[in-house]
Amino acid sequence: MAKKILITGAAGFLGSHLCDRFIAEGFHVIAMDNLITGDLKNIEHLTGNKNFEFHHHDVTKFVHVPGKLDYILHFASPASPIDYLKIPIQTLKVGSLGTLHCLGLAKEKNARILIASTSEVYGDPLVHPQDEEYYGNVNTIGPRGVYDEAKRFQESITMAYHRFHHLETRIARIFNTYGPRMRLNDGRVIPAFIGQALRGEDLTVFGDGSQTRSFCYVDDQVEGIYRLLLSDFSDPVNIGNPEEISILDFAKEIIRLTGTDQKIVFQELPKDDPMQRQPDITRARKVLGWEPKVSREEGMKITYDYFRGMSPEELDKREH
Ligand code: NAD
Ligand code: UDP
Repeated sequence: MAKKILITGAAGFLGSHLCDRFIAEGFHVIAMDNLITGDLKNIEHLTGNKNFEFHHHDVTKFVHVPGKLDYILHFASPASPIDYLKIPIQTLKVGSLGTLHCLGLAKEKNARILIASTSEVYGDPLVHPQDEEYYGNVNTIGPRGVYDEAKRFQESITMAYHRFHHLETRIARIFNTYGPRMRLNDGRVIPAFIGQALRGEDLTVFGDGSQTRSFCYVDDQVEGIYRLLLSDFSDPVNIGNPEEISILDFAKEIIRLTGTDQKIVFQELPKDDPMQRQPDITRARKVLGWEPKVSREEGMKITYDYFRGMSPEELDKREH
């Protein structure tokens, strides 16, 4: 009989790719989402598949799944800064109450659970690159605190269930990931720059663009999560691509990729925007035998082609 997996946040960017992967691996996927930042379009190709079911549900409310359950991937949460700044209380609730409900369900079903944590638990890091031993530098009361602290609480309660209830838990600290099915207007830098280039607008670099990020292509991310779920390792593991670039250089890269002659304009740096971010993936290499395979050049080309296929109406849809 197929192994059953519950994926929360399944209609979102990462969740939908995880649905595809677990279906392809022969699992029965129970997809759950309240569509607050997700889109059914991301999973509509799976409807009709006998190993796929969708439940429209808010995981901050009690979560129930009938029958046996082998695994849970808890990915529900706004992930883009403009999303979580718009819905801060929902963000705190899904990281806290949503996680509590998923852990409770895992305990009830004796299922293994993997939670989607984030490089944001390191905040604006004072250690570079960031390894899993670093405790982080987070402003609890700043605007980003609603996301960072929800995720830090999520890790704490997950370890408490692991230690106290002996639950099988996994913690993925996910670094900036990109690819098809990101929302064009979710405000994250990759869709933002590509959208601007496609609409013939200037690229908006926040601050002086010297802040760095390290971008991981979605297929690599999914492979890392898949391996972590099936591993026997319960401490947090960074999953990301260590190739680091400044945002200004990245904007220039996008201009080259899209072949446009857009200008770069500078706007105010958002409060507490981390100045540098690069995963140390020594642990993932050792424990999971995993490292990213897709270069930024390759991954960005696929992502650009995805957005380029959008209609002018879709390109013009503004959310903010
Ligand atoms: P996304 O916004 O595309 O997907 C999140 C999904 O969760 C959406 O479909 C949304 O509707 C759903 N959701 C939110 N609150 C919910 C609730 N209360 N009940 C049910 N569903 C709810 O974001 P994403 O980029 O796919 O991120 C997925 C997960 O990965 C998040 O937990 C995020 O924190 C984590 N993560 C992502 C990245 C990244 O670079 N994409 C980096 C670090 C961590
Ligand atoms: N950024 C930018 N212009 C934009 C959107 C984002 O310069 O139009 C910057 C942002 O300030 C941050 C980086 O790009 O330094 C990555 O932002 P994103 O929202 O993608 O992710 P996060 O800050 O959560 O890593």
